[in-house]
Amino acid sequence: GEYLSTQEAARRRAARGGAPNYAICLREHSAARVLRTWIDPAARGNVGRFVNHSCEPNLSAHAVRAGSLVPRLALFARRDIAAGEELTMTYGDGAEAAGGGESAALGAGRRPCLCGAATCGGWLPFEPLPGDA
Ligand SMILES: [Zn+2]
Repeated sequence: GEYLSTQEAARRRAARGGAPNYAICLREHSAARVLRTWIDPAARGNVGRFVNHSCEPNLSAHAVRAGSLVPRLALFARRDIAAGEELTMTYGDGAEAAGGGESAALGAGRRPCLCGAATCGGWLPFEPLPGDA
């Protein structure tokens, strides 16, 4: 996908009238701050752009750097995966990933989660951007 700053991700969301797309927010935490890198798969990306969200994913995503300060989003198996089983990841694991309640109220443009997992939170993860209500 295309790497965006938070400001550019906010600008694109505003240009869509506030409607979210499937851009991933990669959050890296240090003691002092949270670095957010947005990866927008709308215009380009590799096969990873077709990995769907699940509230009980079989993959986990990690920031990996090799020869560049720009992180790559690397996917690793969380458990043994059967041949033919759909590969899934969570699109967010922060506080806003939890479905229902207050986080659901955040979002006029939020999308329901249809993953079917027993622990499904009901909504796709949502990362607020500057300018979101
Ligand atoms: Zn779900």
